[in-house]
Amino acid sequence: MVTIVLGDDFVCRLSPSSVQNQLQHLERHRNAAYYQLGEDWNSLVQRATDLWRPKHRIHPDKEKIRARKGSACISSLLRDTGWREDEGAQNERQPPLDSGLAEIWIPGRIFHIYYHHGVPQIAETPRDHPSLRSLAIQGSMVSDHFAKCVLSALKALQNTYHAHDKPPEWTPFDARDTCQRCENAFSWHSTFASASSEARERHNCRNCGDLVCGPCSAQRQAIPRLGLSDPVRVCIKCYLHVGSIARTRS
Ligand SMILES: [Zn+2]
Ligand SMILES: [Zn+2]
Repeated sequence: MVTIVLGDDFVCRLSPSSVQNQLQHLERHRNAAYYQLGEDWNSLVQRATDLWRPKHRIHPDKEKIRARKGSACISSLLRDTGWREDEGAQNERQPPLDSGLAEIWIPGRIFHIYYHHGVPQIAETPRDHPSLRSLAIQGSMVSDHFAKCVLSALKALQNTYHAHDKPPEWTPFDARDTCQRCENAFSWHSTFASASSEARERHNCRNCGDLVCGPCSAQRQAIPRLGLSDPVRVCIKCYLHVGSIARTRS
């Protein structure tokens, strides 16, 4: 028997211990979430009080101090929300919670489809791997359980393996304070000018891997050379230079 686990599919991860783990995680991070909401609210109030003033893009040279502060804050936010990053450490720190609880395991050989640098990859995964023994709140955690999504991922995987090119390296989220296309702070267009808003506005172009803001990556385009036949996020530069998407490496 073979079990396919797609991305963040939470059904496969449901067990008494993973639910218990998730509740503990949410409890630990509740204060961080309230802090982010508070920061967004303060930013909204600030914007509302000076609505008369046109909002200008923030050039990094004028906002170096703010950028440094924002960067430190974003790093801390990413660390705070980095459930995947620290789950291994947590598993080392904490004794297994299954003791005394009903054990639920995924049957058969387990193949996990995940996305790396925008393209699907597959790996056989041991059933006791930490990522299958914990829950993470993700937007796609429900849809990843749908059969049509698994089928679509398998087809995408096939395309990736037959693709001409490898995906580009992605610029890490904490590597830059400004968009690699427009050079402005990531939330220049947003009502919220908070550090948490900047963290949400960071995206990677699937074609070049650069770290870009929302308005600079509003376009969607299939990238056949990477095996991506469905439209995916691309930056304005790649979108306008169609050749960079269609071109294959020689
Ligand atoms: Zn931009
Ligand atoms: Zn690009």
